[in-house]
Amino acid sequence: MKTLEERNRQLEEDDRRYIWPPFTQMREHLRQPPLIIERGSGCVLKDIYGNEYLDGVSSLWTNVHGHRKEKIDAAIRNQLNYIAHSTMLGLSNIPAIRLAKKLVEIAPRGLTRVFYSDSGSTAVEIAVKIAFQYQQQAADGDPAKTKFISVTNAYHGDTIGSVSVGGIDLFHATYRPLLFETLKTESPYCYRCTYSKTFPSCGLECLNTLENIIKADSDRIAGLVMEPLVQGAAGILVHPRGYLKGVRELCTRYGITMIADEVAVGFGKTGKMFACEHEDVSPDILALAKGISGGYLPLAATMTTEKIFEGFLGEYDEFKTFFHGHTYTGNPLACAAAIANLEIFEEERVLEKLEAKIEHLSERLEAFKSLDHVGDVRQCGIIIGIELVADKETKEPYPPRLRMGHRVIMKARSRGLIMRPLGDVIVLMPALAVSMEELDRICDVTYDAIHEVTEEGRS
Ligand SMILES: *Cc1c(COP(=O)(O)O)cnc(C)c1O
Repeated sequence: MKTLEERNRQLEEDDRRYIWPPFTQMREHLRQPPLIIERGSGCVLKDIYGNEYLDGVSSLWTNVHGHRKEKIDAAIRNQLNYIAHSTMLGLSNIPAIRLAKKLVEIAPRGLTRVFYSDSGSTAVEIAVKIAFQYQQQAADGDPAKTKFISVTNAYHGDTIGSVSVGGIDLFHATYRPLLFETLKTESPYCYRCTYSKTFPSCGLECLNTLENIIKADSDRIAGLVMEPLVQGAAGILVHPRGYLKGVRELCTRYGITMIADEVAVGFGKTGKMFACEHEDVSPDILALAKGISGGYLPLAATMTTEKIFEGFLGEYDEFKTFFHGHTYTGNPLACAAAIANLEIFEEERVLEKLEAKIEHLSERLEAFKSLDHVGDVRQCGIIIGIELVADKETKEPYPPRLRMGHRVIMKARSRGLIMRPLGDVIVLMPALAVSMEELDRICDVTYDAIHEVTEEGRS
């Protein structure tokens, strides 16, 4: 029998030897012991030594009602009594049907069809292919419309199609020869406004730029892809009010298929079920993932309007079929978890209870603004980005090699809070289930970590 110590040492050794984790510089990573999580409950994670940590980024923006939520655990166990997986190619299954019906009920109006896949990247990839194919073959389509508009700093996933509509050079530039070209419109990054203007006196000049891009090429554009309200991976860029609605109006006016990527912002993180609801917008295609299964299992959905769906109808040998499908599409276990996730929203009135937490967070965040090296504090619902800068006056960033964001989160980790920065933007995105006490602790630890690392050089 191995002792616990021996088991843990073996796990650490094997982790270093066999695992290649995502988005990680391994040379640096291998210098420190891995943090191996064994359990979780609510918003607390426990490592193999029994140390506890608050889950400050909801296990990378996925977890909704907490870990080991009884109802979701039970839904998965129950589904296991029936079947774990059966294909949706030619067949259907009960949880997939029930979930699709629920999604159509709660999604922005007009979205009536659900195409399943298993990650945010595939949800967007599918959206782009559907928008493209629609123009190629639908009665009112135009095969000359082959281009897409995307937003600078956008992140839509890591597969080649979703990287093509992405705009984060650090992640995407290497792959440029493999990507299709898109028309890029400036992201409304108000803290570093391209036009050196201030909202609202700017009159949303970024929308004028977008309209000019569209006008220059309007008979060639198939679709526009955007993250509504918040550009997540770009560093939690919270868009100014009216931008989303403005984009919707332009897409409608010029006959462009609007694709909203709510992979990060969907399922309550902005305070409403979907970000689009804040500006009463219905996209033509909606991409969902991350929180859809409550953060339990890989699942994604691409929702479309009936009009788009009908563009794919025809006789078999017209070949209007959407020739796309992933093996685990509509996985019954994942769909069962997702149904339970949505039921909890209703039964526990989660969005109502969230309002006070969002309010409390915004009060607590005030103090961060006076820290010497905090340039900008951005919040949308329970999504927070705190941008660190070398110089507050000039907004000059820190040199990347100083790894300020990383140092801050490692300091926080030593005090029992797990975060993951985006460069020098400190991100907080707890599960909706977070308690007031946990929110206070997250804010306390984050504040101290930023203060000590940036002002006292202690890290
Ligand atoms: C995380 C994310 C994706 C990619 O989702 P994966 O499940 O990691 O493939 C796509 N779009 C947005 C906005 C995201 O935040």
